[in-house]
Amino acid sequence: MPSRKFADGEVVMGRWPGSVLYYEVQVTSYDDVAHLYTVKYKDGTELALKESDIRSQSSFKHRKSQSSSSSPSRRSSSRSRSRSRSPGRPAKGRRRSASQSRELKDDKKKTIQETSLALPVLVSFKPSENNTKRYNGEPESTEKNDTSCIILEQKLKPDLEIKRVLEQYSLRSRKDDKKKEEIYSEKKTFVAVKPIEKAPTKTKELEFGGRIGTFMMIFFLPATVLYLLLMCKQDDPSLLNVPPLPALESLWDGRVFGVFLLWFLLQAVFYLLPIGKVVEGLPLSNGRKLQYRINGFYAFILTAAVIGVLLYFQFELHYLYDHFMQFAVSAAAFSLALSVYLYVRSLKAPEEELAPGGNSGYFIYDFFTGHELNPRIGSFDLKYFCELRPGLMGWVVINLAMLLAEMKVHNLSVPSLSMILVNSFQLLYVVDALWNEEAVLTTMDITHDGFGFMLAFGDLVWVPFVYSLQAFYLVGHPTTITWPVAAAITVLNCIGYYIFRSANSQKNNFRRNPADPKLANLKFISTATGKGLLVTGWWGFVRHPNYLGDIIMALAWSLPCGFNHILPYFYVIYFICLLVHREARDEHHCKQKYGLAWERYCQLVPYRIFPYIY
Ligand code: NDP
Repeated sequence: MPSRKFADGEVVMGRWPGSVLYYEVQVTSYDDVAHLYTVKYKDGTELALKESDIRSQSSFKHRKSQSSSSSPSRRSSSRSRSRSRSPGRPAKGRRRSASQSRELKDDKKKTIQETSLALPVLVSFKPSENNTKRYNGEPESTEKNDTSCIILEQKLKPDLEIKRVLEQYSLRSRKDDKKKEEIYSEKKTFVAVKPIEKAPTKTKELEFGGRIGTFMMIFFLPATVLYLLLMCKQDDPSLLNVPPLPALESLWDGRVFGVFLLWFLLQAVFYLLPIGKVVEGLPLSNGRKLQYRINGFYAFILTAAVIGVLLYFQFELHYLYDHFMQFAVSAAAFSLALSVYLYVRSLKAPEEELAPGGNSGYFIYDFFTGHELNPRIGSFDLKYFCELRPGLMGWVVINLAMLLAEMKVHNLSVPSLSMILVNSFQLLYVVDALWNEEAVLTTMDITHDGFGFMLAFGDLVWVPFVYSLQAFYLVGHPTTITWPVAAAITVLNCIGYYIFRSANSQKNNFRRNPADPKLANLKFISTATGKGLLVTGWWGFVRHPNYLGDIIMALAWSLPCGFNHILPYFYVIYFICLLVHREARDEHHCKQKYGLAWERYCQLVPYRIFPYIY
């Protein structure tokens, strides 16, 4: 096995993919398997380069001094050669004529030292057959070039159109414009440079407070659930009045645990049913794509049918309400056991299957954040299954149980208006998630986070038992609201839902097919990875419009519970904290992925979630 030539941290000259330009870069890691160096450019862009595309600074300087290539005249001659790459020229990597090869060799000799990268280019979006192939982020006709990166070249727009595009946006300084015009004058724009996905390396930046933080969370999260449920059970809950801890044996009930297991197995059976389409997820670090069956909505309909049958046969669904605490404890015990299993099996998982965010080498940290990215038993994907099935559908069933319990406890012939609102709003949210199940495949949970205690507990305990807190609260604390108030809250929920859904759809459609005619009016900036960043539409309004919509909905779910206590508002308060933290994590990842292009996006869209506030 050849040994590596450059060390981590060494500053070297790295060739920019598809060009003859070398930039100062820093080696951040080396992949022994793929024999690729991960290097960081000055703008923050990270790429995987072959050794042959890296030179030491000293040899580079030596070459430079020998050659006259850095003189302006030589540079312009180099540019005129570049121009010869006419629009009709076949894309890189295809067969080249002898003269073209000679020309390329010539070009290579004229290495130009540059220290700053070309700024990302604003691209006017024009749907066309060609564009589909070119801009869809996961190009069909990608080609590997000799720099071990996938290069796509954009056919050149006529000069006039380029000018129009530049004028149309006028989003950058004149100095930048000059640079852009120089680039355009070469009649060639690299619009999509996608590095080969590198194998995951060790997680260096620890999140969630590192080892101590994650250790505390393992105790803090279950304690919070217990505290909230105990508070909710009190007739007059008060933050200062901590409820007494129930006897430990009263928290455990074998039958309840059996019901929980049955529920989990039922959902697993529905998940395995061969109905619904099979789609591919995003490429993994080794380039492989996993397959996922999309049948969450069918599973929901089947679950509704099962619940309907149970109710028809007089099954007392408020059993759930009566044993709510025991159910939460059963789910917590199960999620803990599942996390231990996940961690143990992850120790045997190959390095390339470990999560980019959960491979620190610290037991507690990896146990909490999840060591393995996509743990599967055969084709059964444990993380994907838990994300949307037992917990999310469990939430709806719990809400329904609370509605029936309210009617029973207060001897009502119809549920209260508050309870109807809470049930309807949250039902809409869950049905929406299942209807758009495919969208979960591009979320951070699936692509970045491993499956460990955080997600197992979150999916199986936190979501069903904390998100249903409003309905649980209403059973013990009836709240009357008037029709106009109910109408106003409904309007608020609709506004939130509209923002949430249209923002998510806009981004998902754009990621799946940027050439979609429905997106023709949207503008985006291109990035070095080949993916664009929308700068108009919802994603030009704030940087996380979907979070804004989600938070507005969260408020609408709490308002039907009145203002007697802060407990029903726990969800909206916690959710704002969660999404602000999540936004910061995403921002950090995007900065690493897109470098300068992300900074540019942040300049264009200054607010993160709340316009003019944050
Ligand atoms: P998002 O759907 O917000 O996606 C973030 C990603 O979108 C970025 O990493 C980037 O990925 C891409 N992106 C960012 N800016 C742009 C842009 N301008 N143009 C195009 N793409 C862009 O991620 P989440 O997984 O956090 O959220 C998904 C949904 O789930 C949200 O609606 C959120 O509210 C909801 N959610 C709900 C929770 C709950 O408990 N109820 C918890 C967490 C989330 P890339 O460029 O790689 O595509």
